[in-house]
Amino acid sequence: MKCYLCSGEMKKEMVTITRYRKGNYYLIEDVPAMVCEQCGEKWFSMSAVMKMDQLMEKPLEPGEKYINVPVRKFASG
Ligand SMILES: [Zn+2]
Repeated sequence: MKCYLCSGEMKKEMVTITRYRKGNYYLIEDVPAMVCEQCGEKWFSMSAVMKMDQLMEKPLEPGEKYINVPVRKFASG
């Protein structure tokens, strides 16, 4: 499989991604993706996208957790 952006080779990897849904950010770990070795572009299968959408609608399960993240303003400091 070739990258649609740069035609680089794409390799299957498990990745962590950030999604935003209804006022919350979600970190979703161990998502299977095709990742471009050249530019880093990630491609997800339709079933992976649907699973991520479902996960964001369900309550957390044992082993999942909330974390706090700092929110910074670029102009400060
Ligand atoms: Zn690429």
